[in-house]
Amino acid sequence: PDLPDSPLLSQLNPNQAQAANHYTGPALVIAGAGSGKTRTLIYRIAHLINHYGVDPGEILAVTFTNKAAAEMRERAKHLIHGADRLWMSTFHSAGVRILRAYGEHIGLRRGFVIYDDDDQLDLLKEIMGTIPGVGPDTNPRVLRGILDRAKSNLLTPGDLDRSPEPFISGLPRAAAAEVYRRYEARKKGQNAIDFGDLITETVRLFREVPGVLDRVQDRARFIHVDEYQDTNKAQYELTRLLVSRDRNLLVVGDPDQSIYKFRGADIQNILDFQKDYPDAKVYMLEHNYRSSARVLGLANKLIENNSERLEKTLRAVKEDGHPVMFHRATDHRAEGDFVAEWLTRLHGEGLKFTDMAVLYRTNAQSRVIEESLRRVQIPAKIVGGLSFYDRREIKDILAYARLAINPEDDVALRRIVGRPKRGIGDTALERLMEWARINGTSLLTACAHAQERNILDRGAQKPVEFAKLMHEMSEAADNYEPGPFLRFVVEHSGYLDLLRQEGQEGQVRMENLDELVNAAEEWSQSNEGTIADFLDDAALLSSVDDMRAGRENRDVPEDAVTLMTLHNAKGLEFPVVFIVGTEEGLLPSKNALQEPGGIEEERRLFYVGITRAMDRLFLTAAQNRMQYGKTNSTEDSRFLEELGDGFDAVDPYGQVIDYRAKTWREFRPDVLTRASAVKNTSPMTEGMAYRGGEKVRHPKFGEGQVLAVAGVGDRQEVTVHFPTVGAKKLLVKFANLTKM
Ligand code: ATP
Ligand code: MG
Repeated sequence: PDLPDSPLLSQLNPNQAQAANHYTGPALVIAGAGSGKTRTLIYRIAHLINHYGVDPGEILAVTFTNKAAAEMRERAKHLIHGADRLWMSTFHSAGVRILRAYGEHIGLRRGFVIYDDDDQLDLLKEIMGTIPGVGPDTNPRVLRGILDRAKSNLLTPGDLDRSPEPFISGLPRAAAAEVYRRYEARKKGQNAIDFGDLITETVRLFREVPGVLDRVQDRARFIHVDEYQDTNKAQYELTRLLVSRDRNLLVVGDPDQSIYKFRGADIQNILDFQKDYPDAKVYMLEHNYRSSARVLGLANKLIENNSERLEKTLRAVKEDGHPVMFHRATDHRAEGDFVAEWLTRLHGEGLKFTDMAVLYRTNAQSRVIEESLRRVQIPAKIVGGLSFYDRREIKDILAYARLAINPEDDVALRRIVGRPKRGIGDTALERLMEWARINGTSLLTACAHAQERNILDRGAQKPVEFAKLMHEMSEAADNYEPGPFLRFVVEHSGYLDLLRQEGQEGQVRMENLDELVNAAEEWSQSNEGTIADFLDDAALLSSVDDMRAGRENRDVPEDAVTLMTLHNAKGLEFPVVFIVGTEEGLLPSKNALQEPGGIEEERRLFYVGITRAMDRLFLTAAQNRMQYGKTNSTEDSRFLEELGDGFDAVDPYGQVIDYRAKTWREFRPDVLTRASAVKNTSPMTEGMAYRGGEKVRHPKFGEGQVLAVAGVGDRQEVTVHFPTVGAKKLLVKFANLTKM
């Protein structure tokens, strides 16, 4: 069909423009990586508003991560008038918003809290022991996995009972169902919901209260879903319900990038889209704007090895570009050093660190990379590691805040009642819990009555004092803004004194608490709302679940290299990408070998990684790797073999060598000098590379100890403490130091 004249559509290619011009009814945009799916989705929203006159307040766009949602909002701001009225969020935060507004219709009480992964574990540990068939050494994480998967698939405890499998994750199905049932009952009693519930409870709400669905539909008459290939059953159902009235749904996705099966994602959702919506318009995009032709060629070559796939065309718009490099390092540390060398080199050529990313299969791999970068002082930010909101002191103070606004939150109470110590021991706590259970009250109520009801033999005034403190905090919560309220909590909880006793570490934790107050203040500047709303947002940003990682690394400089897992990299792009650990057992991962379809999923994951690169791609492996405290020799990933001659095997200098050579040293015997083989450092710094703590000798100052190292190669500087003259900063090249 003819396209309207529009400055927006003219920034898209013809196929993208057709998709962006889609007005009403269902539509599917299915296309390979970097073909402009997300761009098309955003332009479509802008076009709906500018050309078709749709009100921004009737548009919903759902993305996969907080980061993606924030980016989308940012991009929309530049294109759209009234962009702040767009509803752009993840499935989870959409769920929070709907349940906050209408949850009372399905029995959620005002002020309910959101349990994160750790809270879930705490609750599971508590109930585990009471259920027949669940041994004392059952891993609560396994139980949590069972619950998560059940919820992703909209299964109830009853459904688990009726499961055709006798065992679920190694547990008799009746036991699994019972864990699920008791967990739900306990959670409900504490006026809490968990992450899975954010979707499943919203689905239930929509099913049971059509009036609510109708009202939400008024706010979401045009619905968009990015990364549709990774939706699970629950998200699928939520989407289906939302669009059931107006039927304006546009989804975009790429089946080759489906990488969350382990979390219940169902690739069938995108493959069956035309079955669900027979009148759907399908748009295909066939040009990749992101990657150099070489990088794209490699990606295409890899993914062709998957047998279960929908064939698509994806042509490069860009030129060939740099060759893709593969380096097999002697061990994991040399691998990290290789990455550090090249980051430094490219930075020296004028690239910004923010334009470079290092991707790995498992979070644990980041440590060695981090160490290599730190040695040469390359700033790095880790996406999805232990984030700010997962730190102990932050979770503690937020637990106080939660208990202040929801006195029924027993999990929060148990977390903080001993921090700082208040003279309420384990026995006392058990008594109080017992009493609360029998009387059907909260633990905090039990504390308040400890004395007058003779719940404890002695020390009964302690819980009463604690209950009084929490009562004060509840009043503060009603009267203060989020920032000042949190400061009140920090000061009145006695937490500061606790940290003062922890020395250096306590100091760092105090700084984090200051930062928490800052975060709340900042939040208030851009959000209307109470401490309860702030806690919702904080809960969505917390949790070790990397999918939800948000604001972390608050103290990292602006220009820093990004380190993250391949999973977290989905949807993003960087001029320079390193994928480390291309070894059997890592990529593909060991677990994948046992799962049906596991290898194909890993191949998709590698495909996602490769297609993040715009200009330069580096693949690395380590011939020896330390795992579980032992160093083992490794094998190259089978995927490298599949890439054929699509990359150059290189030595640490980037000189091309034969891929089949056992070690790069066969080609560069000249650099096999001195202690390099023993130290396993890469030759660009070997003999020169110093580390903090190392002992050295200077011809004039004598013996000393390295305090700090900066820069690499010719520019490397060390700060050395000499007993004779104190600390000295020296340029390694001229200092004539010898190692001791
Ligand atoms: P992924 O599958 O990785 O999510 P995608 O299909 O969503 O990728 P985008 O992120 O939307 O792709 O686009 C990839 C890159 O190509 C972006 O930098 C985008 O701005 C650019 N791009 C897409 N279409 C065009 C176009 N028509 N003209 C210029 N640049 C484009
Ligand atoms: Mg995208």
